Order: sequence, then structure tokens, then C-alpha cells
Amino acid sequence: MIIDIHTHIFPPEVIQRRELFAKRDPSFNLIYGDPKARMVTFEGLVEEMNHAGVDRSVVCGFPWRSLDMCRQHNTYMMEAVRAHPERLVGLATVNPVAGKACDTELERCFEGGLKGVGEISADAQGFSLQDERTCGRLAHAVDEAGLFLLLHTNEDVGHSYPGKTPTTPASVYGFLEKFGEVNTVLAHWGGGLFFYELMPEVAKVSSCVYYDTAASPFLYNPKVYRIAADIVGPGRILFGTDYPLLRMQRHLGEIESSGLTADEKEAVLGRNALGLLGETY
Ligand SMILES: [Zn+2]
Repeated sequence: MIIDIHTHIFPPEVIQRRELFAKRDPSFNLIYGDPKARMVTFEGLVEEMNHAGVDRSVVCGFPWRSLDMCRQHNTYMMEAVRAHPERLVGLATVNPVAGKACDTELERCFEGGLKGVGEISADAQGFSLQDERTCGRLAHAVDEAGLFLLLHTNEDVGHSYPGKTPTTPASVYGFLEKFGEVNTVLAHWGGGLFFYELMPEVAKVSSCVYYDTAASPFLYNPKVYRIAADIVGPGRILFGTDYPLLRMQRHLGEIESSGLTADEKEAVLGRNALGLLGETY
């Protein structure tokens, strides 16, 4: 069973009129303003999964600043999971800055079959992971529903790229100190937070954290799989691609030669994700 924990889909109208949405949302403009930046509908995602032999995908929308845009995108996410209930698990996007309206939208999404919240990008959406009230709203809703949160995170150092934000290990650590009991997937290896789990206090607040491998081939030497598995254990690493940013096959090939054992690969590629989704292997 192969599960890609981190993919993105867009409603056809956003793909067709991307310039319009780029004018409305600065982060969207940064990542997708370039007409060469790939975007797919759910049909395109399923085609890629079939091509790469991926059984299921967890799909995110986009961390829009406007709750209204989040709502439109969430409606499309619900349509996607209704069309492919066996293949797609949808997450809801909200901007917690919207306050009570955010709670109402999350209720609608969970009733509509979405299974978590993400990808949330604090910087793109205009709040801080240190802000207890805003983050508390998200953490509480997810925890109460028994679901999980997927947070965008970045490295403190290294090359810059569109979408690289100041949401780095220091700010994620602040979040975990307050809301460490919530199941949280940190995208892109948590910006390197896994390394700091060698510090006992960091390991302690990170016990409910999963690290996804999204975009790893663009960021890290393939040794990262072995090293991360040695530090946090293979049970908290999830295969994710950030498709369509990266082709699934390329990422799978890298994991194949990562030096993980067959059992570790099985955990990273699907078993861990199934556990997080509350399903058994
Ligand atoms: Zn992503």
C-alpha cells in the first residue's frame, strides 16, 4: 500500500484563470503566478497516481488568505473525495485569523468527509505559529474531531525558492510546546526539526509529530531518509511528494535507494499514514 500524504489539487476555474487569483493572493502569485508552475485537478492527480502505482493520496488545497477562497476550494475537495473515495483523502484549508467563521467552515468540511486540516501556511496566511489564540482554534478543532493538521514548514538556511517562508523549526517548536498533543504532520521534513529531536526536550514535545518527505529531492541529500529514521524512528516519517511540484515516480525511486530496510520502507510508504488516518494495515 503506497500513500502519498502531501499533494495539491485545484478547481478547474483556478487553473484556467490563475492570473486573476494571483492578483488576489500574494502567496499564490509567488508559487503559481508563473504559468509554467504545474497545477492539476483531481482527475490529473489520479492519473499520476495510476502512472506511479500510488494507491491513495492525501490532498490539500491551497493556504489562501481569504476564507472565502478557502471555502470555494474546500467545496472542490469534497467533490474530489466523493468522486474517488477509495483513492483520495481530502484535507480542509481555512485561515484561523477569520475566527468563528473558521470553526463553522471546519464543521462543514468534516461533515462533508474531509479528514484533517492542511496545508496551513502561517506566514502565507498572515499569522504566527506563536499566536496561541489563532493556533489554538486550529489545534482544538482538529483534536476534537480526532483528525490531524498538516503544517507547511521551511529550513532556516539554504537556497531560497518560491514558498520558502520564515516558518522554521524555532517557530514550529513554539507551536509544539503549546499544542504538542495534536497529531501534526510537518511538511518538508519539518524544516529540519527532526535533527533537534536529539535534544530530549524537543523529542518530548514532538511525540505526536510526523515528518513528511514532500519535495525532499529538491532540498536534501538522499541520506536524509536514513538519518531521520535513525533519529525519530521510521514510524513518524510519511512519504509525501508535493505533487504536482514533483513527479511521484522520481520520489519513489529515491526512497527505493535510500538505505531504508524493506520494513522501514513499508512503514514510510503507507503503514504510518494508515495509522494516522485511523485505519489498520
Ligand atoms: Zn505542499
